[in-house]
Amino acid sequence: MDAVNRININSSNYLTQAAQNRQADASSPLPSDKVDIKDVPVKDLMDEKSMRSFLKDMPKVDLHRHLEGSIQPKTLISIAKRKGIELPTYDEAELKPYLQITDKDKTLLDFIKKFDTIGKAFTDKEAVEEVTYEAVKDANDDNVKYAEFRFSPVYMASQYGMSVEDVMKGVLDGVARAKKDFNTETGLIMIVERQMGPEHAAFVEKLAEQYKDQGVVALDLANDEFNFPPGPYAQVFQQAKEAGLKVTVHAGEAGGAENVRVSIEDLKADRIGHGVRTFEDPAVEKMVRERGIPLEMCPTSNVQTGATKSLDSHPFKKYYDEGIPVTINSDDPSVSNITLTDDYVKIVDKFGFTLRDVEKFVMNGLDAAFLPKDEKEALRQKYGAEIAQVEQEYVVAHPFNTGVR
Ligand SMILES: [Zn+2]
Repeated sequence: MDAVNRININSSNYLTQAAQNRQADASSPLPSDKVDIKDVPVKDLMDEKSMRSFLKDMPKVDLHRHLEGSIQPKTLISIAKRKGIELPTYDEAELKPYLQITDKDKTLLDFIKKFDTIGKAFTDKEAVEEVTYEAVKDANDDNVKYAEFRFSPVYMASQYGMSVEDVMKGVLDGVARAKKDFNTETGLIMIVERQMGPEHAAFVEKLAEQYKDQGVVALDLANDEFNFPPGPYAQVFQQAKEAGLKVTVHAGEAGGAENVRVSIEDLKADRIGHGVRTFEDPAVEKMVRERGIPLEMCPTSNVQTGATKSLDSHPFKKYYDEGIPVTINSDDPSVSNITLTDDYVKIVDKFGFTLRDVEKFVMNGLDAAFLPKDEKEALRQKYGAEIAQVEQEYVVAHPFNTGVR
C-alpha cells in the first residue's frame, strides 16, 4: 500500500499536477508521491469490509428493480399465513430455493420459474401494498436514494383474479406509506409481458397512460426475450412515447444485439434493460454509444441468467470505457439474494474501479432516471454533497488507514 500511503491529498483540488500531467501524457511515469486519490482503485484504498461499507453508504440509484422480484421469503410467508395460502413450506430457509437462484439454475427461464412461487403473494390489494412497502424499505436500508420499481399489473392481478385497479391501488398505497417512513424516492414502470401478445400490450399501455400522473413514468417490455423478440410491440411502444411516457425494453439479455437495435429504432427505447449482448454487433454497439442510450446493467442477474458466462466476461467495463452510459442495478434483489451494494462491490472489485468511476455510475443512473430535468438537477446537487461527505468519511479523513472501519 506504499503508493497509497503517500497520496497527496488536497481536498479542495483533487486533481494534482501529477495527475494532470499523467492525463496529458499517459506514457510518463506516475510520480509515486503525487496521485489524485480519485484515480486510485477503491480496493487499493480500503479493505473489502470497508469497501462494502463505503459502497453501502454511498447514495445510489437503481433504475432496474422488479417489485415482484423484491419480495423477501419472510414477507411471502407472512402474507401466506395471514391469507391461508398454501406454500411448499413455511420455513424461511427451506422456502428460499423456491424463490431464489441456486447453483442448479442457469438460464433466464430458470430465473422466470421462481415467479410461480412469488405469485402466491398477490392475494389482494393489501398484500400488494405490503410487498411494495417492503420493497421500498429494503431499498432504503441499502441507501438506494432513488429507485424505479417495475412491475407487471397483469401478472399480479392474474394470480387470484384481482382487478388491475386493485393492483394499482395496492402499489400506490404502498409507495405512499413508504414515502412517509423512508428517504427513498420512487418512480413506477409498467411491464408488458412479451409472451402475451400485442392485445395485452395495448391494454397495459392504456393502463400506464391512465396512471401517468400518479407515479407511472414508463413502459417496459419484459419476460421471455429468447422466444419473443420486440418487433411486434413497436406500435404500442410508439403510442406510449406519444402519450408522454418513457420507454425501456429488456433486450440483449437472452436475445442478441438485433433486439437492442429494434428496441431503440422501432420501440423508441430511451434506455435498454441489460443490453449485455449489444457487442455482438459492432454497428449496434456504435449506435448505442453515439445516441448515448443508457444500459441498465445488472451484474449478478446477468451471470445468473446466462446473459454473460461470468463476471470476468461481463462487458460492463468495455462499454464504460467506450463512453456508453452504463448503470448498475439489482434487477430482482430477492430472487438473486443480493442488495444493490453487492452488485457495486462485485463490479468495483472485479474491474478495479476508482472513486471517480463510482461517482460516475451513480450520476449515470441519475442522468438516465425518468425524472423531469429540474428534479434531476436538484438531486444531482444533493447526491453530490452526500457523495463528498461519504468520501470524506472513508477516504480523505483517513488516507493512511487502509482498514478505515
Ligand atoms: Zn429485469
